[in-house]
Amino acid sequence: MKFVGAHVSALGGIDQAVIRAHKLNATAFGLFIKNQRRWQVAPLHAKDIYQFRNACTLFGYSAEQILPHNSYLINLGHPVTEFLKKSRAAFLDEMYRCQQLGLTLLNFHPGAHLLQISVDKCLERIAESINMTLDKTQKVTAVIENTAGQGSNVGFTFEHLAKIIDGVEDKKRVGVCIDTCHAFAAGYDLRSTENCQKIFQHFHDIVGFNYLRGMHLNDAKSTFNSHIDRHHSLGEGNLGMTIFHYIMRDLRFENIPLILETINADIWGKEIAWLQAQQ
Ligand SMILES: [Zn+2]
Ligand SMILES: [Zn+2]
Repeated sequence: MKFVGAHVSALGGIDQAVIRAHKLNATAFGLFIKNQRRWQVAPLHAKDIYQFRNACTLFGYSAEQILPHNSYLINLGHPVTEFLKKSRAAFLDEMYRCQQLGLTLLNFHPGAHLLQISVDKCLERIAESINMTLDKTQKVTAVIENTAGQGSNVGFTFEHLAKIIDGVEDKKRVGVCIDTCHAFAAGYDLRSTENCQKIFQHFHDIVGFNYLRGMHLNDAKSTFNSHIDRHHSLGEGNLGMTIFHYIMRDLRFENIPLILETINADIWGKEIAWLQAQQ
């Protein structure tokens, strides 16, 4: 089964995100489980946890259909010890929140070397950060998202993702999420079916579909290989519809959250319906 949804707002309480997803006729959703631009956030209240879990049960969402996204401030490969520590503490806090909410996935952008350490060293640091976090949490999988490679962000090639996974001890609790806009901006030309086939074969050879825990379905305002991260609505950007049609018809993308992070929330319902109709 294909689980399709959007990254919905949690304004007014995390349970509101569940209601918003339901209103979109979504079978999956993404959300921020804490303010994504702030370091210090109060712990979850028992009431928040209860209301969220209750809404998920009521509207029929299980953990495998929900892909929370972590804070943008976190850099698990930070070259400076002080900031690396801060990032690790914040990441642990988010993983713990997921655990409290009964969620089993946490999607995150791997990190950036800030031109102060090598790419390899940064990837090693990220794996080490994941190991430290998995040691202190249970049941939640750390889901590494591929990036557009903007600035000094790592994780823009399948090889980078594979290298991080390689350094993680508990392979059962590490996975990846592929963002179509990021992949395109990073130099994976997903504009034709033939290319999609080749690129996902390459993904399978380097990373493996067994690690695929989610997808972000975004068209790109940015151009091919630009290393710029700018999303667009499906069919309105430089990527086009082929890739989305391809994903919806390919069985390897079943039973994982397929999440829109497209720019016009008013048409999410339409985009979800279009995607579901491609099968
Ligand atoms: Zn994304
Ligand atoms: Zn993005």
